[in-house]
Amino acid sequence: MRVPIVAANWKMHKTAKEAVDYFRRLLELVPGRPGVELVIFPPATLLFLAQKHLEGSPIVWGAQNAYPEPAGAFTGEVSVVQVADLGARYLICGHSERRHIFGEDDELIGRKVRAAMEAGLVPILCVGELLEDRQAGRAWEVVERQLSTALAEVSLTAPERLVIAYEPVWAIGTGVPARPEDAQEMAAAIRGWLAEKFGKAGSSVRIQYGGSVKPENARDFLTLPDIDGALVGGASLDPDKFWTIAQAALG
Ligand code: PEP
Repeated sequence: MRVPIVAANWKMHKTAKEAVDYFRRLLELVPGRPGVELVIFPPATLLFLAQKHLEGSPIVWGAQNAYPEPAGAFTGEVSVVQVADLGARYLICGHSERRHIFGEDDELIGRKVRAAMEAGLVPILCVGELLEDRQAGRAWEVVERQLSTALAEVSLTAPERLVIAYEPVWAIGTGVPARPEDAQEMAAAIRGWLAEKFGKAGSSVRIQYGGSVKPENARDFLTLPDIDGALVGGASLDPDKFWTIAQAALG
């Protein structure tokens, strides 16, 4: 039984006051046992507030990014150990904005995945092709390379220790989501790959879809057989919209 996981990636948005208002509103909306795992990814400056306001609630939280070394001379970085120490549960690894704006490659992303796991965090590994790759029929080739490099040295004993987010780059922040049938086809291919690499644990890893998910289209994705949740950017900035999206995972 794969519990749906719906995550809010705030990216570089919100002040402290806006974050607190958001947490209060979401806590008003969400019942004690929501039936779906809700994860908030605030920017690093607001992680302390997530810890303060969400601890003991049904909502968990994580970091959008962290450096794989536990400590050291890495000015401006925050380590996986530091975010785990604060109480984070999840770490986004390989988001397309980290890959394309900040030049992160599959090798660094793999280090982050392994370091996150060692620190007790659950990585949400984002994979996805560019529009030109899809148009050229190379979407799976790209995603398969991202998976095999990032997970090369990972051994997975329990499916809850990893989440994959399939996020076609051309669908992120554009208002143009993937076609549900294409998202399902990719999620099924990812699941097959995970089952081959990790056996039973791999076949039960949760797979999210991300890319222009909104309240209006959430059900189209969240009811697909191999999609177990969503990673939501823009629409997650509003707690009411985020909760509406999450409820679509309940069927
Ligand atoms: C994301 O940031 O991962 C994302 C999918 O953004 P959006 O929902 O805005 O497309």
